[in-house]
Amino acid sequence: MNRRHFIRRTVAGGAGLTLIGSPAWEVAAQIVGGSSLRHVQGVGLDDPELVELSINENALGPSRLAIEQVARRMFGMNRYPFHDQLEQALATHHDVPVDTILTGVGSSELLNMVALAAYFDRGGNTVTAVPSYPDVARRTTTLGRELRRVPLKADFGIDLEAMSRALDAETRLVFICNPNNPTGQLLDAAGLRRFVESVPPDVIVVIDEAYIHFVDDPAYPSAIALALARDNVVVTRTFSKAYGLGGVRVGYGIARPDLVKRLARFGLGNLNKNALSIAAALGALTDQDHVRRTVEVVREGKAYLHAKLKEMGFEPLKTQTIFVTVDVGPSLQTWLPLLRERKVKVRQAFDMDGYMRITAGLPRENEAFIAAFRAIAER
Ligand code: PMP
Repeated sequence: MNRRHFIRRTVAGGAGLTLIGSPAWEVAAQIVGGSSLRHVQGVGLDDPELVELSINENALGPSRLAIEQVARRMFGMNRYPFHDQLEQALATHHDVPVDTILTGVGSSELLNMVALAAYFDRGGNTVTAVPSYPDVARRTTTLGRELRRVPLKADFGIDLEAMSRALDAETRLVFICNPNNPTGQLLDAAGLRRFVESVPPDVIVVIDEAYIHFVDDPAYPSAIALALARDNVVVTRTFSKAYGLGGVRVGYGIARPDLVKRLARFGLGNLNKNALSIAAALGALTDQDHVRRTVEVVREGKAYLHAKLKEMGFEPLKTQTIFVTVDVGPSLQTWLPLLRERKVKVRQAFDMDGYMRITAGLPRENEAFIAAFRAIAER
């Protein structure tokens, strides 16, 4: 009897049900049997009324195929996942050799490995744009190394020329988030390539593509080709955004095999793997329709938020990510708790005084945000 039939029989009644006995099994069994997905709102699921637009989660939820894979795999939770199915699937998906893939506990683990690999046996500095995603910067200072913060250009783009000037013989690491969080801006691909090619080969360049699925131009090239062409470049990706798996923690890096090996020394190796998150990621990867639907929902959400904020006299930044960033001025700090009182959670864009960052949600979530924002703005 295969597992599906076993579960169906179990839930349908019979001796198995008393053996299993737990409602959780029943719920999972129903999912395997194809019951409908419920959209999940609220932080930690404990406040279903809350409109959570502060942490760039996927408003559509996870793919049904991801849920099904997790439900199937739960019977094998006693087994360590010492296999490379996810690496193989990612290699096929990106059409790259499997030894160029390094998986991690979210892309956060990759960013951690990169900082440890760069600095474990020597000092030096990291060059990063600011504002940008702060993980690599934080780890650099935690490790007691120097951080070189390069301000953005006036148009909020990353200033690659200024970053080039900030590099010196002590630079070990360069961090580029493209498209950038929290500004939403995308670099010109040719400019990025020229910059990367100008970085000395002993300096690790990290290109964080957490939001690459949300870039408007479908022909915009990922930096994966650059990573495969150069010894010192790693591109990081995540299942937390377009794939909707923020809660299960899967990310990966793509780099040449020698750099993969160098970074892997600073992760938990096979023991960073989680059988259920691997199952979720494998399921999600096969559901590119879900990714496309997500991108569409985000595109519509951003267009709506832009239009409504503009109507109220605000000027949101152009965005190629999952969120909208808008300057609301010094009142931001009083507005955030007022929005929270109205059951809407957004946040300040990090390192951007007065700027609010709003994740694009489902239409009813975006509408709830705009209604609360309008009520506060028009007080
Ligand atoms: N990079 C960027 C740009 C992010 O915004 C995030 C999460 N918000 C991450 C990396 C880390 O995400 P995760 O560990 O979930 O992959």
